[in-house]
Amino acid sequence: MSKITFRYFRDPDNFSFKIDKTSACSICGNNGIWFDAGGFYGEKEIDCICDECLIAGKLENLGIETNEAFGDDENKTNIIIYNTPALPTWQNRVWPYVNGDYCVFERLASKADFINKNEFINSFSAEDEEQTDLDWLWQTLPNNRITNHLEGNFNVSVYLFTCQDRKYCTWDAS
Ligand SMILES: [Zn+2]
Repeated sequence: MSKITFRYFRDPDNFSFKIDKTSACSICGNNGIWFDAGGFYGEKEIDCICDECLIAGKLENLGIETNEAFGDDENKTNIIIYNTPALPTWQNRVWPYVNGDYCVFERLASKADFINKNEFINSFSAEDEEQTDLDWLWQTLPNNRITNHLEGNFNVSVYLFTCQDRKYCTWDAS
């Protein structure tokens, strides 16, 4: 278990992509089960990075980014793209930015995360509400809370964030 807390990623031990066996961090050489860097963006490639190197911002010097973010607060944007584990997504990894701050990624969503379907539907952006059949998306959700991204490896995934105590969701299909 990691002792390090990431501001925008609640549970990296269960919801980030980690390498599956103990390896040396590509930056500091310490051994552990580290973040898999296979999906990171950048010209340089590394295999994996430990929690301490990630939170210390070691990727910034290498020009390697974990996530895409387009909010207008530069400091917070840098935290998302250099110091935050990558979202466990198939493609599009833009981190949601709402009312001047980034949302905190909680976990992959299930029906158990919501009071009812209305709350689920209200947790999407207006754009998603327009473009997505959210009734259908609700039906695809598993009933029980997902405890690890390996359980949530479906064709369709809903990402549950919180932002100033409100739920905020995005979704993705393989
Ligand atoms: Zn390291």
